Amino acid sequence: MSTFQAPKGTYDLIPPRSAVFLAVRDAISAQARSAGYGYVETPGFEDVNLFARGVGESTDIVTKEMYTLTTKGGDQLALRPEGTASVLRAALQANLHKQGNLPVKLWYSGSYYRYERAQAGRYRHFSQVGAEAIGAEDPALDAELIILADQAYRSLGLRQYRILLNSLGDKECRPVYREALQTFLRGLDLDEETLRRAEINPLRVLDDKRPDVQKQLVDAPLLRDYLCDACKAYHEEVRALITAAGVVFEDDPKLVRGLDYYTRTTFEFVHDGLGAQSAVGGGGRYDGLSEMIGGPALPSVGWALGVDRTVLALEAEGVELDLPATTSVFAVAIGEEARRLLFGKVTELRRAGIATDFSFGGKGLKGSMKDANRSGARIALVAGERDLAEGVIQVKDMESGEQRPVAPDALLDAVRGILG
Ligand code: ATP
Ligand code: MG
Repeated sequence: MSTFQAPKGTYDLIPPRSAVFLAVRDAISAQARSAGYGYVETPGFEDVNLFARGVGESTDIVTKEMYTLTTKGGDQLALRPEGTASVLRAALQANLHKQGNLPVKLWYSGSYYRYERAQAGRYRHFSQVGAEAIGAEDPALDAELIILADQAYRSLGLRQYRILLNSLGDKECRPVYREALQTFLRGLDLDEETLRRAEINPLRVLDDKRPDVQKQLVDAPLLRDYLCDACKAYHEEVRALITAAGVVFEDDPKLVRGLDYYTRTTFEFVHDGLGAQSAVGGGGRYDGLSEMIGGPALPSVGWALGVDRTVLALEAEGVELDLPATTSVFAVAIGEEARRLLFGKVTELRRAGIATDFSFGGKGLKGSMKDANRSGARIALVAGERDLAEGVIQVKDMESGEQRPVAPDALLDAVRGILG
């Protein structure tokens, strides 16, 4: 073992588990790609103010969880804690919103960094796949995203998740509610920090997980009783569209999210097998974010799904993904001359697009056949001195156990014949 360990709150993805992460990223992005979302990639760090202004100065992410640094040139940067602000920044910078085809639909996949209290399902480095639809106010867009996320989890074989849905109102009705909630919170027996939070961002108090706080919130005013007619109608349309799509959801009038920029539609996917860190993904509408970071009004909606917790959810449900073997052919050569011949064939097969591995390290026949087995390859190629003398390579179908000698020139066809 080396003297170095992965930093606290982080872990390495290593085979075979790492293949599950790739498959999860793929399954989620496949949904976005199937719906016209284009791939976007942004830097791992940004101007710290992009997040401070966009994500919200009073959020946990900005006050406690952000990794910030000053460069040698004096720039204030932050490792990205989330994707939405960066993606919107990139879209604005590239003027994607001016090309007349709103909404701009983008998906992304990458690493995010938050200085959190590390625990099961909560890491300091984690990965998300996200999708954003920028520049359109249309309940069908909100519905599309919820349906796509649901389909992503379903396609992975997850069953024990629930969709929580709420509306956070808009700049007409939310301030009225905010006042009412603040008045209510001021009358409660809360610690100083929570009271301070109630003054800056009272909605976040609803999200407080502590039982003694939750007990006091039972009679808190609910936003749904304050929604303006436009927000109410919008929300009803989203509900109707996802219901018609057969998506099962629960109305959660106390659902708020850890980011300040959300308006109207807000949702979270929670998994019941994960304990305290139950949110596997979430998202919603952020109609005001563009203006907050200096852009024009661009009503938008999106989600980010956590890859780490989705993998944990698969493990909690005992779902085994049907991962195809990465190697189709494994070549076992005994003796120098056979090694040279087969190594050449390995390259040939790879150039023909067939995933092929080789018995490296000069192991004997037994050890090499073990490696062939472990690789999951459908076909083992075996060649020793006797085979060379006879001018053949043994082609073994690992599934049927059948083996036959094939001339080197006919090898590619023989392999193709078995792989189908
Ligand atoms: P939580 O309430 O668990 O802190 P959040 O509201 O901060 O989640 P978002 O910012 O909405 O989460 O991120 C979307 C998803 O990314 C989450 O649902 C979760 O699956 C994942 N995620 C967020 N923070 C972490 C983390 N520290 N470690 C692992 N996954 C995370
Ligand atoms: Mg969080």
